[in-house]
Amino acid sequence: MTEPDARVIQLVMSLRGQGVTDKHVLAAIERTPRGLFVPERFSEHAYDDRALPIDCGQTISQPLVVGLMTQALKLDDRHKVLEIGTGSGYQAAVLARLARRVYTIERYRTLAKEAEARFTQLRLTNITQRIGDGTKGWPEQAPFDRIIVTAGAPVRPETLLDQLKPGGIAVVPVNNASGTQTLIRYLRDAEGELAEEALMDVRFVPLVEGEAKAL
Ligand code: SAH
Repeated sequence: MTEPDARVIQLVMSLRGQGVTDKHVLAAIERTPRGLFVPERFSEHAYDDRALPIDCGQTISQPLVVGLMTQALKLDDRHKVLEIGTGSGYQAAVLARLARRVYTIERYRTLAKEAEARFTQLRLTNITQRIGDGTKGWPEQAPFDRIIVTAGAPVRPETLLDQLKPGGIAVVPVNNASGTQTLIRYLRDAEGELAEEALMDVRFVPLVEGEAKAL
């Protein structure tokens, strides 16, 4: 896919109007053809600002949420980033345009393989993938400058936060007792102390512990 799509320009303008103001983030979204990441049958909705179903009963996130989460990470091109929940690969592709290297973990083999083909097609060579349980993080590659979780964690994900560098930022949807989900930003200061702030309400598919049994 090399054809620029006029619909992506429209989408970027809409995201800007809704608070995605970082021009690097907007440029990364503009350069990432979401049409390549959604199932064929939804291609006419690829540039709508909504989440869409993907294989294995999962979803590709809403572009606004991708924009706001990416912006909340305050990325630069020296950063080593960990993503939990590769899914379609769309969020990873956006991150890859802003960071030095992206490590992404998915529990479904089918999704990981489909995402891999997209990364190859887009020549995104700075993404490293693994199939497995992302709740354990990626100890061999830790610590990370930035961590993003794109599935709803039942509780504060301590194992992942332990893999965050001093000065690091993590963005994680965490379930509330009431059944809603809040996007939390964790900031680890230079002394290693962790602070957290609630950013907004979100709705992600659940972060599921353990290996996927099938697919
Ligand atoms: N970032 C994705 C959104 C995917 S939805 C995108 O841009 O398309 C969340 C994904 O998290 C799903 O694919 C789901 O299978 C995956 N997931 C859930 N629990 C997981 C776990 N413990 N380890 C790794 N991936 C997980």
